Amino acid sequence: MDLGLTLTPLAYPPLSRAILGIEVLMYVTILGKQYQIKWVTYLGKAKRGYYVAGKCDDPTQQKKAIRIKKGQDPKTEFDATIHECLHAAAWWAAEEWVTDTATDLTEILWRLGYRKLENVDGKAGK
Ligand SMILES: [Zn+2]
Repeated sequence: MDLGLTLTPLAYPPLSRAILGIEVLMYVTILGKQYQIKWVTYLGKAKRGYYVAGKCDDPTQQKKAIRIKKGQDPKTEFDATIHECLHAAAWWAAEEWVTDTATDLTEILWRLGYRKLENVDGKAGK
């Protein structure tokens, strides 16, 4: 099944990444719309004092990004990445549906052994 997702490695000058505190590692395409994937140090605090794990820009925006907080537990980062990609694919979907679906998909893929490769952003999964 084609999920409409493609990954394209992207090389950015290391200096600009260091200045901005942002790593832009690749572009992804979700249902024909291109997003930058960025790992960022801080996305703000959510309700109940939790840190925001990820954010997705409105698919109708011109320059769109999916931002994932750096330094999270690998499985939490995995969940956040799926969660934000689901927002991009189903912007109309309720937060609860996105959260529950991302958590279920994370659990299935995690149990099947899927992990982030060490060379993707320099951090290995567990
Ligand atoms: Zn969400």
